[in-house]
Amino acid sequence: MRALYIVLFFLVLYFNGNTQTQWNGKFEQLGEILPTPNSYRTGSGAPGSNYWQQRADYVINAEVNDKTQLLTGSETITYYNNAPESLKFLWLQLDQNIFAGQSIMNQTSTGAVKDSIPASFFGTASGITVTDYKGGYTIKSVKDAAGKNLPYIINNTMMRIDLPAALKTGEKFSFSVDWSYTEYNRQVFDGRGGYEFFPEDGNYVYTFAQWFPRMCVYDDYEGWQNKQFLGQGEFALTFGNYSVKITVPSDHIVGATGTIQNPKSVLTKEQLERYEKAKKTFDAPVFIVTEKEAREKEKTRSEKKVTWEFYAENVRDFAFASSRKFIWDAQAVKVGDKTPLAQSLYPKEGNPLWERESTKAIKNALELYSQRTFEFPYPVAYSIHSAEQGMEYPMICFNGERPKKDGSYSKTTLYDLVQVVVHEVGHNFFPMIVNSDERQWSWMDEGLNTFLEKETVRLRYPELFGTHGTPKGIVPFMRGDKSQMRPIMTSSDDVRPGEFGANAYTKPSAALTVLRETVMGPEIFDKAFKEYAQRWAFKHPGPADFFRSMEDASAVDLDWFWRGWFYTNDNVDVDMAEVKWFKLRSESVDPEKKKLKVKRGDLEAETNGGKGDGNDFSNGPEEFTLLNTPEYLQGEFKSRVDDNAIRQKLDGKNIYQIKFKNVGGLVTPLVIEWTFKDGSKEVERIPAEVWRLNENVITKVFIKDKEVVNILLDPNFELADVEMRNNIFPKKTTTSKFDQFKKNN
Ligand SMILES: [Zn+2]
Repeated sequence: MRALYIVLFFLVLYFNGNTQTQWNGKFEQLGEILPTPNSYRTGSGAPGSNYWQQRADYVINAEVNDKTQLLTGSETITYYNNAPESLKFLWLQLDQNIFAGQSIMNQTSTGAVKDSIPASFFGTASGITVTDYKGGYTIKSVKDAAGKNLPYIINNTMMRIDLPAALKTGEKFSFSVDWSYTEYNRQVFDGRGGYEFFPEDGNYVYTFAQWFPRMCVYDDYEGWQNKQFLGQGEFALTFGNYSVKITVPSDHIVGATGTIQNPKSVLTKEQLERYEKAKKTFDAPVFIVTEKEAREKEKTRSEKKVTWEFYAENVRDFAFASSRKFIWDAQAVKVGDKTPLAQSLYPKEGNPLWERESTKAIKNALELYSQRTFEFPYPVAYSIHSAEQGMEYPMICFNGERPKKDGSYSKTTLYDLVQVVVHEVGHNFFPMIVNSDERQWSWMDEGLNTFLEKETVRLRYPELFGTHGTPKGIVPFMRGDKSQMRPIMTSSDDVRPGEFGANAYTKPSAALTVLRETVMGPEIFDKAFKEYAQRWAFKHPGPADFFRSMEDASAVDLDWFWRGWFYTNDNVDVDMAEVKWFKLRSESVDPEKKKLKVKRGDLEAETNGGKGDGNDFSNGPEEFTLLNTPEYLQGEFKSRVDDNAIRQKLDGKNIYQIKFKNVGGLVTPLVIEWTFKDGSKEVERIPAEVWRLNENVITKVFIKDKEVVNILLDPNFELADVEMRNNIFPKKTTTSKFDQFKKNN
């Protein structure tokens, strides 16, 4: 007898061990992983009462040499120290040094020769340059406001300037840097700016980016963000005002971050009239330079120079584009009480696609993003066309996608153009205004931006909308080999390039879509997302500020979500492992008489045991007995449970018990589609917290009036469940003869 008990004891242990494997704390709060809240950044995710940030104002004079591609510049930076501590030195970013021979990027790029490789391998991805191009800055001088040389040291892509005296809190310091570099051919050097050369007419389209020494960010949680530029991790930049003069050949058209300050001296009388008309035209773009005019200009070269003046307030960077090839169209967009000017500059090689779609896409992006975040605060938004690009700066972005030589283009090219313009214009919001640290966290701008880009395409271009950035679209990636995969919360430069698109862009976008459509619901999600954007507009948020704000504004516990989607490589794969169908047996039983042991917390009623193979409903319902509530479960209550009333409510109902297994590891809400015998359907949504007491296997009971013929998990592909074959009941275990035939032929 005693021996039997011991055997039973171990059987129970074995059984439990199988069904409830170890607890991974998937619903535990992120508390200890996130930085401790303080008076700079609060536990709510909002900036704190002592939040501060630095400021850097720039006055820059630059000149483009169209014959040698040399860019020469001199800049005066006024740096405001708002930190509570003094600074002995300042760090500047010298991004062009990434193209210098011995840059860390060149030294540490890896690749193999293999049997045969394209010639462009030697000059781009491999980091081994065999061209004659000499990249990197020539720094001519670094001087204080009195013209005295300041000591500086250059460490690769970073330059430290030592200050004559410590810069105390509340003080500012002005200094000047004179520099030059030769712009690179983007066809050979894979950069974010560079030039495109057009051999047919001998002209260039220049897109100048990371073109001047820029201040690093100094902040409350990282100090100086002076992590070297390795190519993939982008930029961390300080806000300030920019006054920039750009000297170019007089037949060039220039577009830049900011508003043109001297239109009368750089535009012809006719161009000026068109420019003024565009500012008041909301329905369609106005041509300031037509294609015909641009084609004429391509044929000649002006030896005269002209200086374009731009001013931009409260921006984190400044970029510009210049070419005599540019066609220019523009129209005003209504955003709240502002009317920013949407403008496109493109060579004829972009037409007719560009004149039809670019400015329209700018308008669509500005309108939708403004609805979801804050009203676009800047006065202009440019989209510039140059081959194979997609890069963003405040108020200006550079975009590829051009039609075939005969002007025709496919639906895919149209989609790619719309997508890239919406995306790069969208970057005005993340990270140009919600100014996160791209060097460390690519997902904070790319992920949030891809999500809103996808929303813009979904709502403004439904005919082009596909699976990009959606839960369905991320399934192939989530299903992939986990051994080398990195979670979203991985430093930008440590993400493997082949996975960068998924890790930084589409996985976070898919995750936010799951959050909006399934976990939170659109109304609550949109409110919380907007709250985050508004809290951190013109500030520097970190990941915790986003995670915390989304919870703070919604009353949805999201720690499990950030844990699973952002800190692990787990994927959603729920196996509907077992379905049982019950009906109430029509007899009442007095448990006192039957001497049945029904303990408090014992949720399983007595059944007549399993029937059939359990793969379909063919064996009909199992019957179960509803026991009268035993006396000892009535507790101290003087009244008694009305067993018959409960029995009547259940009489004739179909009761389904489903066992769900979490195969992929990522806890998820359940979306269940019930199909009834009469052909009608019902979709039921269960929050992810259903897994909190057992992260691996759960059993749940559902009561339905009508008989169910089919149960389908994730019917709309909204959960990113990577395996649909275990999402259906009746189980389709055998391959039909027809399927087999198709497979073999
Ligand atoms: Zn992007």
